[in-house]
Amino acid sequence: MTMPINISPIPGLADHVNDVRLRTASFINSEILPVEDKLFASRRGTVVTEQDREDSRNLREEVKRKVKAAGLWAPHLPQEYGGMGLDFMAHAYMNEIMAYALGASSLFGVAAPNSGNAKILVKYGTEDQKRKWLLPLIDGKMESGYSMTEPDNAGSDPRSLTTTAVREGDDYVINGLKWFTSNGFASDFFIVMCRVEDSTGQGGRSGSMSQIIVPTDTPGVEIVRGIGIWGGSSSDHCEVRYTNVRVPAENVLGRVGQGHEAAQERLGAGRVFHCMNSVGQMWRAFDLMVERALTRQVHGGLLKDKQFIQGFIADSYIDLQTSRLLTIRAAELIDRGDPQARTEISALKVYVPAAFHRVVDRAIQVWGAAGVSNDLPLAAMYLGARTLRLADGPDEVHRILVAKNVLAHYEKGLSWDFAL
Ligand SMILES: Cc1cc2nc3c(=O)[nH]c(=O)nc-3n(C[C@H](O)[C@H](O)[C@H](O)COP(=O)(O)OP(=O)(O)OC[C@H]3O[C@@H](n4cnc5c(N)ncnc54)[C@H](O)[C@@H]3O)c2cc1C
Repeated sequence: MTMPINISPIPGLADHVNDVRLRTASFINSEILPVEDKLFASRRGTVVTEQDREDSRNLREEVKRKVKAAGLWAPHLPQEYGGMGLDFMAHAYMNEIMAYALGASSLFGVAAPNSGNAKILVKYGTEDQKRKWLLPLIDGKMESGYSMTEPDNAGSDPRSLTTTAVREGDDYVINGLKWFTSNGFASDFFIVMCRVEDSTGQGGRSGSMSQIIVPTDTPGVEIVRGIGIWGGSSSDHCEVRYTNVRVPAENVLGRVGQGHEAAQERLGAGRVFHCMNSVGQMWRAFDLMVERALTRQVHGGLLKDKQFIQGFIADSYIDLQTSRLLTIRAAELIDRGDPQARTEISALKVYVPAAFHRVVDRAIQVWGAAGVSNDLPLAAMYLGARTLRLADGPDEVHRILVAKNVLAHYEKGLSWDFAL
């Protein structure tokens, strides 16, 4: 389905943000939606030949070139590194539009895990690390993964991770087993969360946690498998074994012992990016649902006239609009450097994936069998929405954080200031 996204300027919003919104919408409507099936053919399950895959790859590269020419590449990164230099809020407004076409964010240079990795390289990378890893990553000449979660320890509690990096002369030697390292097969390097054993970090359970850049062709890096998810036989979420992997000490990202802090920062940005993407997809699912309700005849009438379906539409409108506002609000607080942004990010990370899941679920119901077919993007959205309730921190961990921050406020004798 190729219903165009309908965007008009938002009164009161800065001109440059409205301009980016309109230009992004125009690009999505003219360059992406008409060829969506070809661009993302493999996801739709319609690819049968190697030639189809090649055509799809070539088309994606062509669209990326057009995105760059239109000045819409890498909105989340500073201009000095080839990005658009948008603040978080402007990016949130742009991202909800580009994510309207499922998968399109990657064509604008904002694909996880590369986008989060680029953000921490910008902030913590040395000049040398930026030259070697960041610039090619932004340019699309390199791919990357983020290797933190381990099968034998709780990902929800990253301080429990046991992959070690031991200092030997000018090198670190890494040993451990990770899994769900996304983009594993394509990656040129991983950012690996390790427990550094000769830590100079400040005490505490996270004191020695450090992030180390590991080129994937380093001896001892073994992709054990692409983990099959949702019934598929494989995926690019990889199990990766590190056996005596030796990298120069200069590959440590930030200070030794700064890994936990940097990870939280990376994941904080990543969570907002995920929610921006969810909002765009929700918008699409909503449009698809309403479009179908307006045209499908059942039992002598249109779906739109059935009260059940009107309920779906109303509830989905509320879910979508609430999610948009929460996402834009969190982005605004991040831009202001407000410490309450952490609470907002966690609130958003609980609310938006669940709302996304509900909206897509209703859209699938309205479409009937077509809803679960690969002819529509809804089935892929549905799985993505459910997965997002785990990735980048499960719901429960974020609920705990919201409650902890709120309680801490009240324990100081202050009620929550909702003006924040
Ligand atoms: C598709 C996908 C892609 C991913 N990509 C990456 C990646 O690129 N890199 C990476 O490092 N990781 C990645 N992950 C891993 C993800 O970050 C972890 O799955 C997540 O942090 C949870 O860790 P865990 O799976 O070990 O679950 P656990 O930590 O074992 O938690 C299991 C469950 O316990 C519950 N729980 C946890 N803590 C509490 C608590 N305090 N109170 C109550 N209940 C609690 C929650 O319901 C949680 O779902 C990905 C995951 C998925 C599904």
